[in-house]
Amino acid sequence: MKNYDIAIIGYGPVGAAAANIFGSKGFNILVIDPKEKIWDIPRAVHFDGQTQRIFQSMGLIDEIKEILDPAEKIKFIDSNGKTLVEVGLKDHSQPNGYPEDVFFNQPLFEKILRTNAEKYTKIDFKLGSTLVDIEVSDENNKLYISNLHETFEVNSKYVLGCDGADSFIRKRLNIQSKDFECDQDWVVVDQIIDKKYKINRCRYQICDYKRPTTMLPIVDNHIRWEFMIKPTDDISKMENESTIRDLMEPHLWRLNPDLNKNSGNLIRSSKYTFHGLIANDFKFKNCFLLGDAAHQTPPFLGQGLCQGIKDAYNLSWKIDGIENNNFSTKILDSYTDERYEVVEFAIKTAIKQQNIIASQSSIQSFFRDSFLRIAKLFPKLLSFLSFSYDWKYSNGIIDNDLYPNKINGIVIPQPSLDIVHNGMNFDQIIGEGFALILFKIDNETEHRISKLKNINIFNNIINIDNYSFKEDKSFIEWLSNNNINAAIVKPDKHVYGCCDDNDIIFKIDKLTNKLYKELN
Ligand SMILES: Cc1cc2nc3c(=O)[nH]c(=O)nc-3n(C[C@H](O)[C@H](O)[C@H](O)COP(=O)(O)OP(=O)(O)OC[C@H]3O[C@@H](n4cnc5c(N)ncnc54)[C@H](O)[C@@H]3O)c2cc1C
Repeated sequence: MKNYDIAIIGYGPVGAAAANIFGSKGFNILVIDPKEKIWDIPRAVHFDGQTQRIFQSMGLIDEIKEILDPAEKIKFIDSNGKTLVEVGLKDHSQPNGYPEDVFFNQPLFEKILRTNAEKYTKIDFKLGSTLVDIEVSDENNKLYISNLHETFEVNSKYVLGCDGADSFIRKRLNIQSKDFECDQDWVVVDQIIDKKYKINRCRYQICDYKRPTTMLPIVDNHIRWEFMIKPTDDISKMENESTIRDLMEPHLWRLNPDLNKNSGNLIRSSKYTFHGLIANDFKFKNCFLLGDAAHQTPPFLGQGLCQGIKDAYNLSWKIDGIENNNFSTKILDSYTDERYEVVEFAIKTAIKQQNIIASQSSIQSFFRDSFLRIAKLFPKLLSFLSFSYDWKYSNGIIDNDLYPNKINGIVIPQPSLDIVHNGMNFDQIIGEGFALILFKIDNETEHRISKLKNINIFNNIINIDNYSFKEDKSFIEWLSNNNINAAIVKPDKHVYGCCDDNDIIFKIDKLTNKLYKELN
């Protein structure tokens, strides 16, 4: 019977991201999926900046950038066709070094992931194979796998359940989910318009209670539409081309005034029920749930897949640390603690957007429109309409008690990618291990810090004053405004803890010892 370090169950986009992230660390991996080919119709269309930063760490950002279309703005339109709110996405700051809102074509993205994963010679791909049973134990998991030709067994120390919303693993492990009870039926349509038409790149949420509609140019002339299904609709007709074209007609002029209801090809129209669900635990012994297997979110914030990729990134340094750095297995418990909190926030925010877009009656719309018109004067009230957030956790491996600071748990900003040091940008300098960032520290203090007892826990110590990154004023302002002279950055780029320069050697010593204990 074959033995693997890691079995990745499901080769959708999250499984493919996991194959790349874990493959690059040299693990012996099995990947299985009953489907051999990439599903050629996109579901996800949007990535955020943190997700692009993960592609950067995977070494794939240059290729992926080629298939991205940065969003310029999104407009929320009322039932009379008037603009309620306009969010200028292009002008947002780029704390991760990348635009916070980009659109992409999912099949092309998955192709890049699969092509790269195939380079890792220690990955065994058994596509066309399904996991049919699993025996879980602390030391080794036994997997029963079946395909057209045979049923076979393998052992794997870790199992990553990337097997989607209907996850076999989640059910087999009897992990229950919390339901946010926000189910709504929508028809999702993809349309390709002839290239001779120049498409207005603005994205629209048409908050018309008579037919809530989403209209998003994705890349080139590919348009994503979503139409809410009303209780009075004849469901059997909702996916029909003639129904869809009637629904599109009132909005097409916004894309290009020369379009009419017969323009373009519909490459799919499918009914989806949008859910808000989160598994109560993302882990059972050495089995983990990632992506839709662990959580499902209404698509309005464009976060479902982003969060799945962040799951894989979070888990990867922990398994790597246990296998290659002798970290304690107890750190695996932080996977649920850290990911649950962020994902729950993403789901709740997406539901808020859903409630704004999909109001059900003229009275509800009246109150919503009044709220939005007033809220426009206080931009903070509208923050849930934007895509960019400080994805932050407060549980797990983090300093909450020694030196509390609101940046603990946050993703550390990445200074502008235009600024490099010895040809490398910030994340490349930080690397994939723990890093200590120092700011405004003299040489003598830095030297004494380098002699601290557990300082070897850091792969890198970066004194910003000696690096070109200090040229990025917004990064320096961020450090100053938050009173940071030292910050410990985790391999997933979240801040573990930080301190100011008052008695800094003592504080770094305390933080480092605390972290050491948490990891060992
Ligand atoms: C309309 C819509 C729009 C969306 N927009 C966005 C967006 O803009 N941005 C975003 O980030 N997210 C978005 N999402 C969410 C995103 O599409 C999903 O979160 C993402 O595709 C989930 O990927 P996954 O790999 O976890 O699951 P899946 O893509 O479902 O893959 C699971 C895989 O597991 C395999 N599998 C199942 N059972 C087994 C088994 N027993 N053995 C082996 N393999 C198995 C399946 O064959 C499948 O290939 C959207 C979703 C929808 C529906």
